[in-house]
Amino acid sequence: MQIAQDTVVSLDYTLTNDDGEVLDTSRDAEPLDYIHGRGQIVPGLEKALAGRTTGDAFTVRLEPADAYGEHDPDLVQTAERAQFGGEDPEVGLQVRAEGPEGDQVLTIVAVEGDVVTLDGNHPLAGVPLTFEIKVTGVRAATKQELAHGHAHGSGGHDH
Ligand code: ZN
Repeated sequence: MQIAQDTVVSLDYTLTNDDGEVLDTSRDAEPLDYIHGRGQIVPGLEKALAGRTTGDAFTVRLEPADAYGEHDPDLVQTAERAQFGGEDPEVGLQVRAEGPEGDQVLTIVAVEGDVVTLDGNHPLAGVPLTFEIKVTGVRAATKQELAHGHAHGSGGHDH
């Protein structure tokens, strides 16, 4: 079976940046399952997977626009240390904040004195990414999976 709209795809992946640093991998965990054609994975990877079949292995390098998007400087803001209510703001920490478009996840990218710089971009925005992929399974999604909008594991429905 080929990967097409509304197939459930299982894949092993390793994600690296241009320095060859491994950012994420399924190697030591379960393969990733997703429903194809619904924007559940980054657009460039979804495009590269279309038409593939079980056993296919390939490597694809994606520009930020095809991955997590360009880095938007407007999403970077500063706050005062006092706003963290006694918690120690540390670089790398993620905080949830209410923004004009609902809940937003911000990453603390700098702390200088009392000024804390927060970045609302996805941590991988602006980063070209290389995906090493192996397709381990392709099947039609069940009605229940389509209704829920996500793939169910091999153990069936457990939620
Ligand atoms: Zn479900």
